[in-house]
Amino acid sequence: MDLRNFDLTTDADGIATLTWDMPDRSMNVFTEAVMDEIETVLDAVTANATIKGVVFTSGKAGSFTGGADLKMLGRMLEAHDALKRDDPEAAAQALFEQCGRMGALWRRIETCGKPFVAAINGTCMGGGFELALACHGRIATPNAVMGLPEVKVGIFPGAGGTQRIARMLDTQSALQMLLKGETMRADKALSRKLIDACVEPAALLDAAKAMIAAGLPAIKPWDEKGYKLPSGPVYSAAGAQLWPAVSSLYRKETFDNYPGARAIVKCVYEGLLLPIDQALRVEQRYFASVLRTTQAAMMIRSLFVSMQELSKGAKRPRSVAEATPRRVAVIGAGFMGAGIAHVAAAAGMEVVLIDRDMPAAQKGKDHSATLLAAQVEKGRMARDKADAQLARITPADDMAALAAADLVIEAVFEDRGVKADVISRAAAAMKPDAIFASNTSTLPITGLAESFPDAARFVGIHFFSPVDKMMLVEVIRGAQTGETAVATALDFVRAIRKTPIVVNDTRGFFANRCVLAYMSEAYDMLIEGIPAPMIENAARMAGMPVGPLALNDEVAIDLSARILKAAMADLGPGAVDQGHYALVSALVADGRLGRKAGKGFYDYPAKPARKHLWPGLKAMFQQKDPDTIDVTELQQRFLAIMALEAARTMAEGVVTDPREADVGSILGFGYAPYTGGAISYIDGMGVDRFVALCERLAASHGPRFAPTPQLRDMAAAGETFYARFAPA
Ligand code: NAD
Repeated sequence: MDLRNFDLTTDADGIATLTWDMPDRSMNVFTEAVMDEIETVLDAVTANATIKGVVFTSGKAGSFTGGADLKMLGRMLEAHDALKRDDPEAAAQALFEQCGRMGALWRRIETCGKPFVAAINGTCMGGGFELALACHGRIATPNAVMGLPEVKVGIFPGAGGTQRIARMLDTQSALQMLLKGETMRADKALSRKLIDACVEPAALLDAAKAMIAAGLPAIKPWDEKGYKLPSGPVYSAAGAQLWPAVSSLYRKETFDNYPGARAIVKCVYEGLLLPIDQALRVEQRYFASVLRTTQAAMMIRSLFVSMQELSKGAKRPRSVAEATPRRVAVIGAGFMGAGIAHVAAAAGMEVVLIDRDMPAAQKGKDHSATLLAAQVEKGRMARDKADAQLARITPADDMAALAAADLVIEAVFEDRGVKADVISRAAAAMKPDAIFASNTSTLPITGLAESFPDAARFVGIHFFSPVDKMMLVEVIRGAQTGETAVATALDFVRAIRKTPIVVNDTRGFFANRCVLAYMSEAYDMLIEGIPAPMIENAARMAGMPVGPLALNDEVAIDLSARILKAAMADLGPGAVDQGHYALVSALVADGRLGRKAGKGFYDYPAKPARKHLWPGLKAMFQQKDPDTIDVTELQQRFLAIMALEAARTMAEGVVTDPREADVGSILGFGYAPYTGGAISYIDGMGVDRFVALCERLAASHGPRFAPTPQLRDMAAAGETFYARFAPA
């Protein structure tokens, strides 16, 4: 047998061990070649009477598989598109067959008559977990993490996952797990009976073999006569209670924006009405159709491929050798600085956290202690690990403490004078080759660098709050920033396991410009008399995780007022819409500063009462009759105004790569993920259609919707962003 990716051995008791270990990859993934070899092995095992059963495991330490190679799905789609032009029906059929390949193989394992046990020695995702579910037994090591996260990249488990999970768990739990794309540790999988046992790595193979030796039946309950579904038949009193609620919950959570999620509900509902083999065909059919949606293509590209590429350093200057900073200093132990110190210590770095006095610096360290205590309490972290992490943060009140740092990050007040003073004092205390980074959100990096003796070593590292949760970091290149500074910033971001985008210096950088456009559009709607609940709901229906008014309350309305004021001071009164300024000023004057004040666009009564929109907004503007308002247009306004701002950043060269705009927009401000991000929203509908949409919106709502000249050029040339800005 000619196997490149597997090793098959059989012991004296006739138990075979199939070890998956791809020679050219750090993680096993399903490719065409891997599936060919699994088929070969299955032929051999079934034809060999001396083999009693098979243990399926991985040769990679700590991981079984990451799932399907999503680039393989990309190749399938390309082949489909090529064939579609000549013969659409054959193309659809071919895609359907290809989509069924993995599912058919797993079904063959399940019904081959010999027991298979998955010995899960670590991460086991997607198609790999579906394979494990098809095996007759499953044993995992305590560190193993498993699950079916496909829905998060726009597709769904299409190799039997929806059917087996729905036959192993009660329907409600099955739907929850599938719709959330939940991944879980071995202990949780065991408590849900998704695996049979959890054993230490050294005992894994013996335990798996012992299951087979003990006579593990090579048949699944659903292939036996008299099988009963965990939640009973769909057409039953219980089913009649459950299913109407499922469809309303599904809509509440997704607003029907995600074809993958919709297919999960349909697969489970329709599949549970059928015997397993027909149910698997239904799943296969939905999979082939979901795979062809724009949403799936865009989500796979942005949320899987691009995010991985950027996280692994796609934009890192290659001329500079990798050097992850080991010692970091953070100046300013406030809200952001404390968070930055926390994530750096979590990545194993030694951190000094400096503030004006020791109590302030200690308060920053206490923030990390609070976060760690919560982790320990939830059982997510061992106490000794938490203690060691906290011990890596050293509070200080003197710049002398940063002498050993490879990287210094400042997060002091957003004030040019304060920052200039801190920067020049830090420069005097730093090692001569250390890099200095500012976390400013509004001040141009090029200007701040003037206070630093060597602007080449000065860079922006812009975090989002809360730092421990938000996965995006903008690395800002000032006019003089050198490649080493950019590379160091990117190495740092990679070490703290966040995703970086590299942007050129400009007011608001990338993400905040788009966020500002989002909130400004809501101001315009309020001023037009659109009822506030409609504004918030339209944004959520468009796919935004948080409505613009709720978001404004989180970032603080006085901050919005200050940003508008600063823009007027720097660029003149014409730079700001006076209606917007009047609106936020009125709220600020009334003490309505946002969540921190207990009142803003919303009121925040004491718990357990929930926040609700402030009724006073109705009196501020003459309210339109809701029946005269086009909700679809409100949704388009939100997505288009942010996409236009993203397109402007690309036209200006602030962002140079559409992958960064897309990933940045989803991770930075939750831009409707089903679109694949702010630029994929445009590419997905076609630049010409986007330009037409903007022109229509500009005609009724003003020139802020006017498409950029670059967009018009691209529309005329039939170009996409991804083609025009393809990386060299
Ligand atoms: P903050 O007021 O919570 O913290 C600032 C800290 O800096 C305070 O602890 C203060 O004592 C300290 N400080 C001030 N002057 C100092 C000096 N001379 N020497 C040492 N320490 C000094 O502010 P924050 O919200 O953490 O913001 C800090 C920076 O991060 C600002 O530049 C802000 O624009 C930026 N930022 C904020 C956010 C956000 O959401 N808050 C997001 C991204 C970036």
